[in-house]
Amino acid sequence: MKHVIFYSGGLGSWATANRVIEKHGIANIHLLFTDTFIEDKDLYRFLIETTQKMFGIDQSDLLALVDLIPPVSHHTMELRKDFLKWLAELTTKRNPHFHWISDGREPWETFKDARFIGNSRIAPCSHHLKQQSAKHWIFDNFGPEDTTLYLGIDCSETHRTLAPAKNWEPFKMGYPLVETDTNKDAVFQELAETDIELPNLYKQGFSHNNCGGACVRGGQAHFLNLLKTNRDLYIYHEEKEQAMREYLDKDVAILRRTRNKVKTPLTLRSLRLENETDTALNQFKSKPPSTVRVFDAGVGKNRILKLTEDKTRYITGNVGTSNRRVFHYWSFENAFKAQVKKEVVL
Ligand code: SF4
Repeated sequence: MKHVIFYSGGLGSWATANRVIEKHGIANIHLLFTDTFIEDKDLYRFLIETTQKMFGIDQSDLLALVDLIPPVSHHTMELRKDFLKWLAELTTKRNPHFHWISDGREPWETFKDARFIGNSRIAPCSHHLKQQSAKHWIFDNFGPEDTTLYLGIDCSETHRTLAPAKNWEPFKMGYPLVETDTNKDAVFQELAETDIELPNLYKQGFSHNNCGGACVRGGQAHFLNLLKTNRDLYIYHEEKEQAMREYLDKDVAILRRTRNKVKTPLTLRSLRLENETDTALNQFKSKPPSTVRVFDAGVGKNRILKLTEDKTRYITGNVGTSNRRVFHYWSFENAFKAQVKKEVVL
C-alpha cells in the first residue's frame, strides 16, 4: 500500500505525515508539495528541515540554499521561480519520499490567464497551482487500488473533508488528525516539543502558512496583518492588483466591502491608505503637536492652530477684529486632515 500526503508546509500536514509514518513506516510514504513560488522563504526551510528529519536523509546543504532564494518582487520574480525550480529538482533527487512540483506559474499569472482576480469565493490559483498540479501528478504516478491520499485537516474542520472525498474519487482519503481527534493547539504543542522552529508566518500571527501571507482567500484582517508584518510584500501584491485592474479594465479586487448591504470591491491600495491614515491619526491624537499649520478651506488660506491648554482640541488665533475678538476651535480630526506640511501658495 502507498501513502501520499499533501505536504503544504502547514503544521496540519506535518502532523499528518508524522502519524502516517508512525503507522506504516517510511518505505511507501510520499509527501507532495505543490509550489506557488510566492511562499514565505521560511516555509521552504520548514519543508526541507522536516523531510530531512522524517526520512533520515541529510539535506543540510539544501537547507543552506534557502537563504539564497530571491525575494518576491517585480524584478526578481523570474529569478525566484528559476531558483525554486532548481532547488525543487535537487531536493526531490536527494529525497525520493519528497516530491516538490509546480505548475510553472505564480498566482497572479493564473489570474491573468483566467482574466479574473482570485477571491475568497473563487480562486483560480488554488485550482491550477494546487488541485490540478496535484491531480496530474497523482494520476500519472499512482493508482487508486493501492494508494491512500492524506490531508492535514484537523478535528475542528471535519466539514472540510466532504469536498476532497468527492474531488479525489476513486482514491481512498485519510484524515489522521480527525481520526485521532487532534486539534490545532495539539499540533502546535507537538512541534514545540521538537527542535524544529515554528514557521515564520505562524509567528507573525497568520493562521495558515501559505502564499507568504497573501492568500486571496484571506479577508481584510489577514491583509492588514500582511501590511503590518511585511509592508513591501503587501505593496507588491497591491501593485499586482492595480495592474490587473488596468489589464481587465474593470473595478475588481481581491477583497470586498459591505456597506448598507451593498458589496463593492475593496482594493488593497484603498485598504492600505485607509489604514495608514487611521494609524497616523491615532499617533497624532496620542501625541498632539503644540501647533499645527492647516489649510482653512473656509477662508482659502493657511492658519496656525494652537493646542488648547486642556489638550483636547485646537484653537485659531484671533480671526475677528481688535474690537471683536473671535476664536475658532478645531477638532483633532479636522486639524489632522487639514494640516499642510508646506505653505500653500495661492
Ligand atoms: S493559498 Fe490562497 S493564494 Fe495561495 S494558491 Fe491557495 S487560494 Fe491561492
